[in-house]
This record gives sequence, C-alpha cells and structure tokens, in this order.
Amino acid sequence: MPIETNNKLKAPRSRQFGGGLLILFTLLLLLNFVIPSFGPRPASIPYSDFIAQVQAGKVAQALITPNQIQYTLKPEATADPAQAAQAPRIYTTTPVSVDLDLPKILRENNVEFGAPPPNNNAWIGTLLSWVVPPLIFFGIWAFLLNRQGGPGQAALTVGKSKARIYSEGSTGVKFPDVAGVDEAKAELQEIVDFLKNADKYTKLGAKIPKGVLLVGAPGTGKTLLAKAIAGEAGVPFFSISGSEFIELFVGVGASRVRDLFTQAKQQAPCIVFIDELDALGKSRAQGGMFGGNDEREQTLNQLLTEMDGFEANTGVILLAATNRPEVLDPALRRPGRFDRQVVVDRPDKLGREAILKVHARNVKLADDVDLGAIAVRTPGFVGADLANLVNEAALLAARNGRQSVIMADFTEAIERVIAGLEKKSRVLNEMEKKIVAYHEVGHAIVGALMPGAGKVEKISIVPRGVGALGYTLQLPEEDRFLMAEDEIRGRIATLLGGRSAEELIFGKVSTGASDDIQKATDLAERSVTLYGMSDYLGPIAFEKQQMQFLDGYQSPRRAVSPKVTEEIDREVKEIVDGAHHIALAILDKNRNLLEETAQELLNREVMEGDALRDRLNQVVAPEELNSWLLSGKLPDGVRLMQETLV
Ligand code: ADP
Ligand code: ZN
Repeated sequence: MPIETNNKLKAPRSRQFGGGLLILFTLLLLLNFVIPSFGPRPASIPYSDFIAQVQAGKVAQALITPNQIQYTLKPEATADPAQAAQAPRIYTTTPVSVDLDLPKILRENNVEFGAPPPNNNAWIGTLLSWVVPPLIFFGIWAFLLNRQGGPGQAALTVGKSKARIYSEGSTGVKFPDVAGVDEAKAELQEIVDFLKNADKYTKLGAKIPKGVLLVGAPGTGKTLLAKAIAGEAGVPFFSISGSEFIELFVGVGASRVRDLFTQAKQQAPCIVFIDELDALGKSRAQGGMFGGNDEREQTLNQLLTEMDGFEANTGVILLAATNRPEVLDPALRRPGRFDRQVVVDRPDKLGREAILKVHARNVKLADDVDLGAIAVRTPGFVGADLANLVNEAALLAARNGRQSVIMADFTEAIERVIAGLEKKSRVLNEMEKKIVAYHEVGHAIVGALMPGAGKVEKISIVPRGVGALGYTLQLPEEDRFLMAEDEIRGRIATLLGGRSAEELIFGKVSTGASDDIQKATDLAERSVTLYGMSDYLGPIAFEKQQMQFLDGYQSPRRAVSPKVTEEIDREVKEIVDGAHHIALAILDKNRNLLEETAQELLNREVMEGDALRDRLNQVVAPEELNSWLLSGKLPDGVRLMQETLV
C-alpha cells in the first residue's frame, strides 16, 4: 500500500494527514482517561466498616472485583430513605484479599452480590490501547519524513530508484564537447554504433557488450563521456551513483537496482551510467572474516543478477566509472558483465589545450590569450580543473570590468586553482617536476639494458592517481609465466633506476622512490626465501604459503635459526646492493643521455614511440653488467658505490 508522495500536490496533504492523526488520537486517549471520572465520586469506606455494615444487615447489593467492592445500602439504613430509594448512593471499599470468608458473610446477611457486568467503556480503552501507539508512531514518521524529504524522497518510496532520466538528446553533450581523451573516445565510438545500428550486429549473431568500465581519476570526464555517448546515439541516459544505492535499510539498495533495470529495459535502447562503482562493488573478500557489509553485498549481488538476466541484445548498455578498479569485486569483471575497460587518463599538454578550447568556446578571449601556454603551465590538471580555470578567469575579467578575458586573468586564475588543488596535493612545483622527470628517465635507461623486461613504451610525468607522480610503462614482449634469475636481478635494478638517477643528479633522494624500494626489496627477499635462488642457502623455502584469511599480513617465515635469518638478510641486502650499484653504473655511463632525455621529458611531459626508442637505443652497457647478470656477483675489486638500507 505505498502512498505515492512523488507528486508535488500530494505531499502537503499527506503532511496534514500525519499531523492531524497525531492530534486526534492524543485527544481520544486523554478522553478515555477522563471519562470515567465524570459523575458523583463514590464514597470510600474502610473494609472493616463495610463488614460491620453487612453484619448489621444494612447492605443491599455488592459488586465484587478483585480490587474493589462497590456496594449500596438498604434505603432504610440511610439518613434519607426516600432519596436513597430513588438513587442509591454508591460506596466503595478495598477488599482484603485473604478474607476468604467474605462470600459466606454476605450470604448469611442476605446481601445480593456478584461480579459487575463488563464496563461499557472498556472496549474503547482496549481498542485504543491496541491501535493508538502504532498510529501515533506512524503519524510521527510520516510527519518527519514529509518535512525533511522533498517529493521523491518521501516516506514510502525508499525503494524507488533515484536514477535521473534525461530524455533523448537532452544530455546535450556530443563527442566534440569532450576533449583530450582521444583514445577513450575512439574506443567508445563503437558503443555509439552499437546503439544506433543494433541490427547490423545482431543480424550477424554478434553479441553487443553489456558493460563498459571507465577508469580514471575524478574530473577526467567519465560522466561527460557517458553522456556524450547517449547524446551521439540519441538514446535516453540514466545515471545513478554507486553510493546512492547504499542505504540505511538492508534490501533497499537491491530493490533500487531492480527498479533501475526495469525502467531501463522499458526505455531501451539506452545508457545506464553508474558513477562511483567502487562504492557498490568493493570486493566482497575485503570484508573478510571480520564482517562484510550486508547491504552492499546484497546490492552488488542484485546488480550481478540483473546483468546476467538481461539479454545482450536488449540495447541496454551499462557504463560504470571508477578510479579504483583494483578494489572491484572480480565477479564484476567477468565476461558478460563489465568486461571492457576504457582508461580515461589525465590529459597531456595537447589534451589540456584541447579541453581549454572547448571551455573557452563561449568565453570572449582577448588576442593575447595563448591557450597553449596555459596548457604548459597546468600539468596534472584534469578536465574539471580546466573548466574551473576558464570560469575563474572569466569571473576575474568581469569583476575588473573588462570586455574580454586577458592572459593576466588566466595567470591569476591558475594560481587560484592551483592553491585549491595543492591542498589535495596533486600539482607539482618546478623542482618536483624535475625530480620526477629524472626519476622516470632513470627507470627507462636502466630498464633498456635488462633482459626479459620488455620494451619501455612510455614515460610520463603527468601525475596519475594518488601517489604516482609519474610513471614508466614497460610492456613485456610476450606473456611470461616464469622469471629467470637474471630477469629478477634486472627487474630489481630497473626498480632502483629511478632512485639512482635522483642520487646521481641531485645528490639526494626524495620520498618518491619508496614504492620502488618496497617492490625491489620484496622481490629480492622472495628470490631468496621463496624461489630458493640463493647459492648459499639453497632451495629451501623459508617462507610459508600465505594464509588465506590473513590478507595483507606478511608471510610468516618458517621457524629458522637466528643464524639463518641473519643469512637471509645478508643475501637480500647483497642482491639489492648489487642491483643498486649496477643501476648507478649504468646511469653514470649514460649521464649525458639521462640529462638530455629528462630535459625533453620535462618539455613534452610524455614520451613514447619512436622519440623514446631512439633515445633508449643509445644506452651503452657498463663492463660489469654481464657478469652481474649471470652470477649476481660484482667483479672483484669493484666496491659498491653507495650503501643501501634494506
Ligand atoms: P568524472 O565523471 O570523471 O569525475 P566529469 O565528467 O563529471 O568527471 O567532469 C566534470 C566536468 O569537467 C565536466 O562537466 C566538464 O565540464 C569538465 N570536463 C572534464 N573532462 C573533460 C574533457 N575531457 N573535456 C571537456 N570537459 C571536461
Ligand atoms: Zn619509480
């Protein structure tokens, strides 16, 4: 019996209804207490006096209840017999419950006695005591919910999906509105075609994908892309955020999912966009033994069921956005669900310029404004930041009473936006940028000489995600399942290449290398304790297999003597130190190349393809490289260039 309060006209009435109920029933309740006390109050007599009156033969009738005796006197026993005959006065007394002789005494004295007939008013009391509390509760509930929630959020519509529906074309967004993410756009172009010409694909028996996951930092334009797809294909666009599914009441989220899909299927072909999928789809394993989140799990299960339940060709395409794909439940990524993943990266310099152009379309720019120069000065900005920047600049110009926005407005706006972003620590200053550039080139140059690690495909100093200020992308040439010893050494050296470059150029290290060092040390330790690669310690597993439920807990070592522990530590340190030495030696030998490449990277922010390959082909190997790769030992007489802490 859902009471529809979605409708604006109905909401106020329902509020009055709730409030009115409340007042009405409170009154009735009071009345019920008050009624019996109307009329003449009976006189209260001590029990002993009552017995005396009975024994004196004065009592005519008595009504006996466990708690009270009401009685009347014979007219002749009262002060005014004539009046008493008309309306006998009622007396009450409180019986002594242990007096078992009472009936006998009454009978002996010919008193008419019995239990009173059921009270006429009693049924009202009973009824009220059953009905009123729930009604009062309901009244208060309806009243409160109506007061705080607008239409659509009201009392009994909690299960309705809050997905907002934009009808055809009204997203108003087309692909040209989204700039700087050309790769993602190219991949998503296909989806538009699926939606527009579904027949073409289904005729051939091809299955149209159901789910596409958009992965990227906040503000990179994932929502915008999803809207653009709907806009291009001219289909309705439903959107809902993962966090909106998670409600106070268990089961509501699941019913919302069901509702969303029902609506979507009615409007197919259409796009359903789920923002913040990670809020909903966090791996169920993460709750672990220590209690998961029932509501989230139920909602997630419902989503999985719905995704499996609709045919691939109904024309409903699900797009979901997240910036933490790694936390998603693996079940979400299975074939037939979100099996396609499109990365929406932070834009590089050209991308930023393109985005600035999009947002400057409706802004009057002065001739001195150079969007390319602004793009250079805004590394790390995402689309949302750039949109914000253009708006700030326009506001500044208006405040200063200018006819158009000049470059100085942009300069000031950049400072403002950066100040805001620095709080979120996403933007690098010049020195940090330089350090990151050398660091990444260091990885790339060392990596270029190492066996089996694959080619270095791309280096970038565009910050990506939380923590990663730059990155080096190394693609394996083939799928690898085993790693040879020299490859592990090479991997460790590559990991240390970043830090080594910082040491060599700046004479000091930054905190940016901590993740590399962690990985390098882990790998070295595993090669000794798990893979049995140490000559001295031999093929003994010193580490127990990880226990399943203690994820994140360090693998416990097998019980070993302190001497062996010491030996393990020594071996690990030797491996890491050797790799560190080699990395330094390589970079030292290629110092000019390191400097030039880092400068170029600073200018271009991203290096890939031929430009990068040409540089990396020039890397020359130091003499000791081969013997180190083979044996892990450095030639005699070569001392470590620097100590490393393990
Ligand atoms: P996300 O969903 O990735 O967090 P949004 O799509 O909500 O980011 O982006 C917020 C706003 O930032 C958009 O409405 C748009 O104005 C601007 N924006 C973001 N990325 C771009 C882009 N690539 N091109 C143009 N504008 C963008
Ligand atoms: Zn690094």
